[in-house]
Amino acid sequence: MKDAELAQALGNRIRDVPDFPKPGILFKDITPVLLDAPLYGRVVEALATAVRDAGTDVVMGIESRGYLFAAPVAARLGLPLALVRKPGKLPWRTRAATYDLEYGTDRIEVHEDAVQPGQRVAVIDDLLATGGTMEAACRLVRDLGGAPVLAAFVVELSFLPGRQRLGNAVDAVESLVVF
Ligand code: AMP
Repeated sequence: MKDAELAQALGNRIRDVPDFPKPGILFKDITPVLLDAPLYGRVVEALATAVRDAGTDVVMGIESRGYLFAAPVAARLGLPLALVRKPGKLPWRTRAATYDLEYGTDRIEVHEDAVQPGQRVAVIDDLLATGGTMEAACRLVRDLGGAPVLAAFVVELSFLPGRQRLGNAVDAVESLVVF
């Protein structure tokens, strides 16, 4: 399947849910993509190609929908899988990064042994909105001595400045469908 065909198939499957989780947000629901097994497989294949081409040593997934894509990509390529989690969920020694939300701040954590110094890391999430979450994840990668080489998403919202925000945070940004 060509990239444009994959983007179109994703555009047809991803469901818009207005005012979720709060008024004014148009939520991009990827669960219909997961129910479409051939399409889910193509998504994993396309992300795996981008991750492999970036010369990746470690695949990092962002909780929670990022795991749905990072885990099969890591298994497909035979690469280690590192987890970024919400605060207080990881059992061992962690590093944390905070980032600004519209109101207030949020925080993500990673285990200290998730990335070894010098490793090239591809970080995967389901959706790029403001880029705050991914920027913080890339900071964690650098904090552990790794190099963030790719930020990969299924969906990119181009009416928000996520891609610009990631400009200095990571070598490359890839998404499969842009709204
Ligand atoms: P951001 O940090 O603003 O780029 O937000 C990205 C994170 O929030 C991702 O983990 C997404 O799953 C989630 N997210 C933000 N906006 C939306 C949206 N409109 N629809 C679905 N998920 C979203």
